[in-house]
Amino acid sequence: MSDTGPAQRPQAEQGTDSEVEAAARHTPRGLPLRVENLRKEFGGITAVDGATFAVEAGSLTGLIGPNGAGKSTTFNCIAGVHTPTAGHVYFQGEDITGLRPDRIANRGLVRTFQIARELHDMTVLENMMLAPRGQVGESLARSVLPGLRGTVVEQERDLYERAWETLEFFEIDHLAFEFAGNLSGGQRKLLEMARVLMTDPQMVLLDEPLAGVNPTLEKKLLERIHDLREEGYTFLLVEHDMDVIMNNCEHIIVMHQGKVLAEGEATDIKNDDRVVDAYLGETI
Ligand code: ADP
Ligand code: MG
Repeated sequence: MSDTGPAQRPQAEQGTDSEVEAAARHTPRGLPLRVENLRKEFGGITAVDGATFAVEAGSLTGLIGPNGAGKSTTFNCIAGVHTPTAGHVYFQGEDITGLRPDRIANRGLVRTFQIARELHDMTVLENMMLAPRGQVGESLARSVLPGLRGTVVEQERDLYERAWETLEFFEIDHLAFEFAGNLSGGQRKLLEMARVLMTDPQMVLLDEPLAGVNPTLEKKLLERIHDLREEGYTFLLVEHDMDVIMNNCEHIIVMHQGKVLAEGEATDIKNDDRVVDAYLGETI
């Protein structure tokens, strides 16, 4: 996978560091995603009410909060599914607020989507091949232009190889010729993740990727997320299961009533009275 993902970060050198090297290790790795004063109203309902947070490069960051806290709406505003009422979303330092989802995806920020109905009658492999956007081969007119034909064939072959490699990585290559509609709920989640990788993202937004997934597949999916994170991908994960977030995310953002209530490591969050209060009355 390393040839398709972002460049690996250099490993920290062994042994004693010079002062400069030691300081460099404490320099933040960058914040590819920044959300500032994000607000989204639906009629009279304020779903997101001035949320501000940032996600560190190469991290697996968790976004949690009781039902109705505004997590999904925040995701949808980041990914361009909703246009925010106010506030800004920055990706890699550029303002992407209000851009269309495909434009945002082209910049390397993608969210997983449920496999659309019309893709159920296509095979898993076909689903993979259709996932990337902006391919030269998409344009039929251009594909018949002399000189470009070779590029198209080459690109198709690369895609095909990458599709297989990615299916193997998620251990669903044995399902390549199965119709997507015949997959179990958990297998479909793996395919959704695999399809996202075909778009060559830098950062992936996951909204409850483990909902309805059996424990074996859940473990597999989490392992794959960790593998990809080690390769340099950045993840923002919304998940209702607290244990999953606490055990897997190094940084956690807690939303409540449309706002960011708390941020920190699992131990900080667990011991934060405001978080405990926000969850009172919720079964988690
Ligand atoms: P979460 O994902 O944290 O459970 P949501 O972002 O889905 O929360 O919802 C936040 C609030 O916004 C809720 O009160 C919800 O009912 C409302 N809401 C979400 N989407 C819409 C919508 N499309 N139209 C109207 N209200 C919505
Ligand atoms: Mg939600």
